[in-house]
Amino acid sequence: MNICMVGVGYVGLVTGTCFAEFGINVVCVDKVADKISMLKRGKVPIYEPGLEEMVAKNMREGRLGFTTDLEEGVRDALVIFIAVGTPQGDDGAADLKYVEQVAQSIGQTMSEYKVVVTKSTVPVGTGQKVEAIIKAHQKEPIDFDVVSNPEFLREGSAIEDFMRPNRVVVGAESERAQAIMRDLYAPLYLIETPFVVTNVKTAEMIKYASNAFLATKISFINEMANICDRVGADVNMVAKGMGLDQRIGPKFLHAGPGYGGSCFPKDTEAIAHIAREHGYEFKIVDAVMAVNQRQREIMADKIVAALGGSVQGKTVACLGLTFKPNTDDMRESPSLTILPRLMDRGAVVRAYDPAGLAEADHAMPELVACENAYHAAEGADCLVLMTEWNQFRNLDWQHLAGVMRGRVVVDLRNVYKPERVRAAGFTYVSVGRP
Ligand code: NAD
Repeated sequence: MNICMVGVGYVGLVTGTCFAEFGINVVCVDKVADKISMLKRGKVPIYEPGLEEMVAKNMREGRLGFTTDLEEGVRDALVIFIAVGTPQGDDGAADLKYVEQVAQSIGQTMSEYKVVVTKSTVPVGTGQKVEAIIKAHQKEPIDFDVVSNPEFLREGSAIEDFMRPNRVVVGAESERAQAIMRDLYAPLYLIETPFVVTNVKTAEMIKYASNAFLATKISFINEMANICDRVGADVNMVAKGMGLDQRIGPKFLHAGPGYGGSCFPKDTEAIAHIAREHGYEFKIVDAVMAVNQRQREIMADKIVAALGGSVQGKTVACLGLTFKPNTDDMRESPSLTILPRLMDRGAVVRAYDPAGLAEADHAMPELVACENAYHAAEGADCLVLMTEWNQFRNLDWQHLAGVMRGRVVVDLRNVYKPERVRAAGFTYVSVGRP
């Protein structure tokens, strides 16, 4: 089968490459010429473990190609995936302009039956919109189906998530489109992946419902951590004790600086907006968003308090900047709120991140970019663990004590053993642990 993937971001590039790995011929299209020329040279424009090797292999084997020409991608493809960005608009709603542009071009270029699949996260009703746009731009009436196939991969483990998903959701209203989607995902059928086949609107809703629920779990445990801080309980043990209940489950119960990234912040805003548009106040999600915003303020205040109530003239070493490990994605990272708060109050921030420094530098040019954790710690009054990259899990505390000016560690990810850090002579502060 031949397919076309429009948009080679975190989702499009990973899913396109993984479909090629399944033996399908894939042409990936992006409007950014620099990305396409990089990819043609076998270079991957994002940081995602294992992706560059997989791209190179499938290009070598002739199943994966790249172009800026949508017509070239659409021509021979039976299935066209739309995997472009759906960023947050000014009013909180998902901005669909890229999806709409692509739908228009597909309408203009298609000359035979196609299945057009929205992989991007889109509000309920977008499938109908895409269908209307394609129809309105066809030169002559040609049959096609619009399918919703939301993506659940996580940056940092995207390949594994695509290859071994918990489930595949397909919203398709014709038997023909359903059969083609089953065929496309045949290798996942073989490993008995559950398929949820439903109508387009329901599939679109499943994605928002999932992300809103996960964001709720995070805000819930963060509020628990704040209460633990006040009463002297240990949120890690609370999470463990809760998570062993199979109705609750242990995942997404890690207290920290709040969720970030390109999905949860915009998807919670979008579902709240969808609800409002339909005359309903989604009170839980409104609270989840407010708690997440407040959590960042609370973390900034925690760092200031750990430094005795003022950061004026103090140097803070920040380890990790991205919203989570194993990605270079800085979108909506908590560091983008917390660090400017410290710098506004007179702190100098020295920072190191294994993949996010270049992006962070655009957003916060006043950061002092460092070469590694120990370089960042030089002369620092306080060390903050912002993102739990593996390379920060086993720090040499004696070495740090030797290069730092102060002796304060603020662990925003609850990664370190308090006794160990304290034994090295540091004051240790974490999130919701006594
Ligand atoms: P991204 O911003 O990394 O990539 C989007 C790509 O689309 C860019 O390369 C952009 O140049 C390209 N593009 C935009 N308009 C185009 C056009 N008209 N023609 C061709 N290319 C065009 O976005 P992403 O993180 O991959 O997310 C894509 C969608 O998937 C979003 O709706 C997002 O919510 C959803 N999603 C993302 C993740 C994630 O972890 N990033 C996970 C699940 C779902």
